[in-house]
Amino acid sequence: MAKRLLIQGCTGSIGRSVLSVIGAHRDRFRVTGLAARSSAEALLALAREWSAESIALEDETRADFLRAEAARFGGPRIFVGRDALRTQCEDTDYDLLVNAVTGSAGLEPTAVALRRGINVALANKETLVAAGPVITRLAAEGGARILPIDSEHSAIFQCLMGERQESVRRLWLTTSGGPFWGKSAAELEGITVEEALAHPTWKMGPKITVDSATLFNKGLEVIEAERLFGIPPDRIEVVAHRQSVIHSLVEFTDGSLKAQLSVPDMRLPILFALTYPERIESDLVRTDVSRLGALTLEPVSRDEYPCLTLCYEALRRGGTAPAALSAADEVAVGAFLKRQIGFNDIARVLNEILKAWPDEPLASLADAREADRRARAMTLKLITQGKNNSMRDACC
Ligand code: MG
Repeated sequence: MAKRLLIQGCTGSIGRSVLSVIGAHRDRFRVTGLAARSSAEALLALAREWSAESIALEDETRADFLRAEAARFGGPRIFVGRDALRTQCEDTDYDLLVNAVTGSAGLEPTAVALRRGINVALANKETLVAAGPVITRLAAEGGARILPIDSEHSAIFQCLMGERQESVRRLWLTTSGGPFWGKSAAELEGITVEEALAHPTWKMGPKITVDSATLFNKGLEVIEAERLFGIPPDRIEVVAHRQSVIHSLVEFTDGSLKAQLSVPDMRLPILFALTYPERIESDLVRTDVSRLGALTLEPVSRDEYPCLTLCYEALRRGGTAPAALSAADEVAVGAFLKRQIGFNDIARVLNEILKAWPDEPLASLADAREADRRARAMTLKLITQGKNNSMRDACC
């Protein structure tokens, strides 16, 4: 029987890749629900193409348009407004939630599906970074699994299959190093928005591309790895691998290492998350091993990537610190993209926010949301103050 999928964040780049994977394996999957935050036209087009039974849109101002247009092609069930994504997760039937929503809006849908005992294929970083302990508890209670779509976590997940937790010595997350690998902090000072957005391997949105350049994205992945696999931060390493072929490695207590490899293509981790626990026959991603060429692995200096170090620190502090740091980064990267602060100021701002952030427990999704709100306000204030002086004076 076809697996019934609810795909939230279907109009973004991951959502589109998910649909292209499904398109290549139509006999295996049925799209029952689709959701987007604001792209009403794109959502409607996809709903029509995939004969979705329900659609959800966060943007309330498009409600009338959505209802009128949807009625013209069979009238799927419609959810609109702030709670639309959560309600769609609660009130419709599906076997797997694909959460490709960006930002903290991805939290509630994951929680709802896990509570219902439904597996979640997760591309939304905020879910595990901001509310990790709450989310993993819900998964355990609901008897549901979080299936990572990120290539690194998918690699580790696959390497750990058939292994025991106590046999793991270390996780090794690979990073391409971003576009500025090998540049000194002084050279990075004057990096422009255009330079930061030219990522060598993966084509992604502007926020995650900047996060790849600062290695903040890798830091978030370290936090996610701790949540997903229960390995403490001092046993999670980051290693530079420019070719993006080795997607990550696991080192075991006997000294053995396992890695997962393929040509870089998001559709492979997506396919694995969608078909888990099966592996299916697929020609979507083929790797000619004999043509991979030289694969290099090099150490990453934590000193040169302060954003990565700050993520480790937030993870060690626990509580709401990771949620605050992640929210602060969204604001700081936004300010960089608007040319309000420089590239290195991103790390300066984050350092300042984490230093000022109080140690406090995280007991619920509401705690994560509140920390997110407060951290955004603090960061905005810091950046606004910094504009009058130089950011370096304001921060350090
Ligand atoms: Mg990744």
